[in-house]
Amino acid sequence: MNTVTTASGRVRACCEFCGRMSRAVALASDGRLSLFDLPRGWSEAPFRPTFTHPDGSTGSLWQCPACVRRLERGEGLPSRADRAHSAATTGSEVHTGT
Ligand SMILES: [Zn+2]
Repeated sequence: MNTVTTASGRVRACCEFCGRMSRAVALASDGRLSLFDLPRGWSEAPFRPTFTHPDGSTGSLWQCPACVRRLERGEGLPSRADRAHSAATTGSEVHTGT
């Protein structure tokens, strides 16, 4: 899931890594979420609107400001789809204490 449509027809971007959601924004005239409408710091991995990802979501992927900063520092962040896959294959979730 990379976007969530609200009851009022606006759309929230959902971070592909941590699942954080942006504030709801109105769609562009072509019916797609535009990076320029999102709060400063969000990033987009462009995909065709018809592209279907392993988790069933379609279109572009979105990254929240916090994850963008981690990527810029060189961290490799697993996407939520990848984590779901590895959890399914190992049968357990990985918990790391802080
Ligand atoms: Zn994030």
